[in-house]
Amino acid sequence: MPIRKLPVHLVNQIAAGEVIERPSSIVKELVENSLDAGSGRIRVEAERGGARRIRVSDDGCGISRDELALALSAHATSKIESLDDLEGVATLGFRGEALPSIASVSRLRLASRPAGADSGFELEAEAGKVGEVRPAGMPEGTVIEVRDLFYNTPARRKFMRTERTEFGHIDDLLKRLALARMDVALDLAHDGRMVRSLAPAADEATRNRRVAAVCGEAFMEQAIVLEEAHAGLRLTGWIARPGFSRSQADLQFFFVNGRLVRDRLVAHAVRQAYRDVLFHGRHPAFALMLELDPQRVDVNVHPQKHEVRFRDGRLVHDFLFKTIHHALSGTRPGGESAQMA
Ligand code: ADP
Ligand code: MG
Repeated sequence: MPIRKLPVHLVNQIAAGEVIERPSSIVKELVENSLDAGSGRIRVEAERGGARRIRVSDDGCGISRDELALALSAHATSKIESLDDLEGVATLGFRGEALPSIASVSRLRLASRPAGADSGFELEAEAGKVGEVRPAGMPEGTVIEVRDLFYNTPARRKFMRTERTEFGHIDDLLKRLALARMDVALDLAHDGRMVRSLAPAADEATRNRRVAAVCGEAFMEQAIVLEEAHAGLRLTGWIARPGFSRSQADLQFFFVNGRLVRDRLVAHAVRQAYRDVLFHGRHPAFALMLELDPQRVDVNVHPQKHEVRFRDGRLVHDFLFKTIHHALSGTRPGGESAQMA
């Protein structure tokens, strides 16, 4: 075959293959966009596990009428404009790939009314073909509706699981987002039924309630609160005493600047810190938030941005290890609590 340029629609579908695995991937991308837009309240509605319909509405900064179509085109982003920006990126998104990817494998409606604008506008896209901009009656903010996911890519559609499983993934995702952004109100509905309604957590009591809602009461009862800063690194969150351990690594949340990541260096530091207090084969439970200057962490490592690369990995590892190890000292034989007993 001769070499040729791929049509834009196909390029977007290929990109969708990397970021849009299942309905929950769509919720992730849309909610992250809402967070980047400075929203205080985000509502997620799903039908039939999200395969039939996903709707995310927010009260963020909105998109102006002139930029609606642009938002759906490939590599269009308002979040970075140079390599310098990329190296210190503080937003969750920056690739400009999510909306065009989603639009290439679904029927999408984007409606927005920027803060301060008299009215809103909307447009629809089907299999990547973008329609006319029309007026839309709506409050300030943005609504994105994604229908019939993978309707035009049958091979991908086959990989979707039962509605229950797919909704489970969406709910798991919402829980993680709820921990990452305590300050934002989050609602989740499935097939018209409200599943979660989380008020913004403003003080310790409401924060604890949110953690208990996400991680369970049993975790909360055994949780040690962490708050430690060193060399420009700040670690906050909750770790479970060894009395609450898991047979699987299924209650482990680690956020770097509000982004959930899976990182081997982090996993290693935590495992080492728990090493002498947990039985072999048991896993610790934790929800930890690390904050540092975005310049010190590279988030452009993975298409779904699950992975990051720390510029000073050793320092991060040692800080995590020491902080967690110290917090657990009361739980070791001869530690504080043993002395008190
Ligand atoms: P990225 O998030 O990487 O910039 P996206 O394809 O996810 O790329 O979104 C493209 C652009 O559309 C964003 O840069 C932003 O300007 C705009 N946008 C998307 N969703 C929202 C939203 N909920 N509120 C305001 N602007 C949005
Ligand atoms: Mg995005």
